This record gives sequence, structure tokens and C-alpha cells, in this order.
Amino acid sequence: MIEKVLIANRGEIALRILRACKELGIKTVAVHSTVDKDLMHVRLADESVCIGPPKSADSYLNVPAIISAMELTDAQAVHPGYGFLSENADFAEQVEKCGFIFIGPRAETIRIMGDKVAAIDAMIKAGVPTVPGSNGPITDDNARTLKIAREIGYPVLIKAAAGGGGRGMRVVEKEEDLLSSITVTQNEAGSFFGNSMVYLEKYLGNPRHVEIQVIGDGVGNAISLGDRDCSLQRRHQKVVEEAPAPGVTDEERKNIMEACIQACQNIKYRGAGTFEFLYEDGNFYFIEMNTRVQVEHPVTELITGIDIVKEQLRVASGLPLSVTQDEIMIKGHAIECRINAEDPATFLPSPGKVNIFHAPGGNGVRVDSHIYSGYTVPPFYDSLIAKLITYGADRNEALLKMANALEEMHIDGIKTNIPLHQDIMRDEGFRAGGVNIHYLEKKLKL
Ligand code: ADP
Repeated sequence: MIEKVLIANRGEIALRILRACKELGIKTVAVHSTVDKDLMHVRLADESVCIGPPKSADSYLNVPAIISAMELTDAQAVHPGYGFLSENADFAEQVEKCGFIFIGPRAETIRIMGDKVAAIDAMIKAGVPTVPGSNGPITDDNARTLKIAREIGYPVLIKAAAGGGGRGMRVVEKEEDLLSSITVTQNEAGSFFGNSMVYLEKYLGNPRHVEIQVIGDGVGNAISLGDRDCSLQRRHQKVVEEAPAPGVTDEERKNIMEACIQACQNIKYRGAGTFEFLYEDGNFYFIEMNTRVQVEHPVTELITGIDIVKEQLRVASGLPLSVTQDEIMIKGHAIECRINAEDPATFLPSPGKVNIFHAPGGNGVRVDSHIYSGYTVPPFYDSLIAKLITYGADRNEALLKMANALEEMHIDGIKTNIPLHQDIMRDEGFRAGGVNIHYLEKKLKL
């Protein structure tokens, strides 16, 4: 097992990684910006290094500073968490070139999955179902483009190959608008992502977001820990997640898990990953793969009993996965609410001092959070301050526990979206299960 890990992240995920390391007897190094010296994981780590000023570009994205910190502390490996450098192939490559272990897939895999055109191509080859589309970049042959779009059928979605975070997408309803919209999207993609390549996809009207968790050992073995439904989104940001996805049949689940496992085996996938799909009328359509641990990984941990971060650490250490596919049992139901420091009505960030934090508890209640009474939420980073996760024998029990836990949770001093979550837990459509990706935004407009 690796002996010392540097955690190149902050907030709840840094603490999550630290806890897994401690359980495995791995020493930890925290790196932090100047405003983050009081973060909980910095206090608990064996060592800590300040890597720069508050702005992420100067600290959490500062590759030379992070690699220097690894050298300085003799860390063997780096865990990038999610966000920041977690899907940066150049960073992964540089870490390995310097003789350290990157806890995640090979740089080459990250690069392929970060290019959506290349990723779709890899999925088609592996037999993973994709959205009907151009299956390749749009060229300047307009007649060809118009023909492809007509074959896909309107509305079509123009997507940037290098897009991410819900940016670089445009829906086109009718043929007259296609070519001009492509030009606009290409220009935007060029300036946002430094790559103007775009492609076309069928725009699905009422899909759900259902994703599959996988872990590969890097030498050709891979397992899947089942699915999660993350359809409750606002501006392409997930708000509530749950596992398993309501209404997905055992057969549908088995088939899609098998396709994802096959794809991982084909590329000797290393580490944790997620295949994201749109799910409509019983069909799965691949949209992208995330080559890192996800925010919503706890719901999967609760229904499988498998610690995903520990598996990441095992794989990075060159050890085999701790379980085989036959040993994985999906049991019960889990729901996660992302608690953000934001105004529940306007969604504006609400940083500041947390005067009092009281965490809920009880059987089947998990709180992944770095905040504590007296902690100040800085304005520079993501507004996620806690993940509240409940587990029940069935979905109804998980919902009841969530409603109770939200009522018990007390955060005084800053505004949070707890009232929004309480409203969601009371919502009849959500309670029935299986709402689509537009449901929350429609509800918020009412
Ligand atoms: P990003 O990398 O920016 O997150 P994704 O490809 O994951 O981009 O898509 C983000 C979101 O956009 C999806 O969760 C879904 O809500 C919507 N979306 C993406 N592709 C389609 C599609 N073909 N039809 C309808 N909605 C889509």
C-alpha cells in the first residue's frame, strides 16, 4: 500500500480522502491556499503545505506548487479529488514523469475521455449505446452537415468536443438555424476551451440522467457498482442524487453495467470512473465519462457497502480490487442532498461565518462535511458545504430519513439551500420517482 498521499483538493472531498487514508494507515499531506489554513482536513493531516493565494489558478490549480509540495514532503502519490486538477491529463502526466503516483486513470485515458468526440468513438467501439449523432466532428462541408442533421432529426444539439460544466451546447430547432448556430458554438468553444471542434447529437426531449459507477484495476479487471439517478439538476448542476435509479429494471441495469465493464476491460481502465447516460423510454444513451471520484459517490457506497475511495487507493498501490463482480450486492436505497452555502430562492452564493453547525444523525444518516461551528466559508470556491446522505431499506424509508435529517440539520450564520431540499422531499412528483432532467427547473419557475 502507498505510504503517503498528498490531497490536492479542499473542502468535504479532501476530508473524505483523508479519512480513507487514515483508515488504511496512509500518512497524509494537505495542501491549501492562504484562506484555507483552517479547513478541517488541514487540521487533521499529518503535514500541510500552503501552496498559494486564494484564487484557484494560483493555488489548487498551480501544478508546480503542488509537485514541489510532493517533493518537499516525500509524498508518494497525489489524490486529486473532483474538480480542480482531477481531469487534467497534463497534470496526471507530469505527476508520473516526476516519479509520483497519480491516483486516477492514465493520462492517455483522461485525454480521450476529455475529448467528447474521441470518447463517443471509444464507446461505439466498446458496444456502449450512444446518442444518435454525427459520431465525429462537423467539417466545413455544409451539405454534409445539413444531411447529417436531417438524418438525426430536429431538434439537434450542437456540442463542443472539449465542453464541460454544461457549457458549449446549443439546441437547434430547425434547419434554417443550423449553420449559423454551429458557427457561434464553434467560436464560443474556441474561446472557452481553446478547441473549436463541435459535433451533433439528437436532442432528447425528456431524458433522465442515470450514471454507472465503475472501478478498474488498470490491468484489465473491472467491476461496476450499479447506477445512480442524478436527474434533479439546476443549470446542469446536480442537486439531489439517489441510488439505485427508480424504475430502471434489473435487466436494463444488468445490460448497461455489462457494457460499461466491457468498455473498462477493453482499455484496461484504472481507478474509479463514471459513465454518464441519458435514459429515455428504457434506453441508455452515453453522454460522457468522468475519470474521477464523483461528488455523489456516497449513495453508491451505502447501497453496496464498498468504500470507493479506498478502492482508488488500493488500485493506485497496484493491489487488486477488494471484491469481484459476483460479490457485489445492491441492497436498499440511498439519497444525497447537496447542501450549498447559497440563498435558497435566488441561488446567489452566501459565504461567511458559520456561527453554529449542528449535524443530524441516527441510523442510516451520513454527513460528509468539512464545516464546523466558527468556520468561515470563503467566497472563492464552490458553494458545496455538506452532503447529507440517508440510507433506508427502501426508497420511502430513505426519503423519510432525509426529511427528518434536513429538519435536524442546523446551520446558523449563512444562508443554505436546506429549505429547497425540504421542498423537494415534499414534492409529489419527486416522491413518485423517475422525474426527468427538466423537472426541477420547471418546478422552480412555478
Ligand atoms: P458537460 O460535460 O458540460 O456536463 P454533458 O454532455 O454531460 O456536458 O451534458 C450536460 C447536460 O446537458 C446533461 O446532463 C443533460 O442535462 C444535457 N444534455 C446533454 N446531451 C443532451 C442530449 N443529447 N439531449 C438532451 N439533453 C442533453
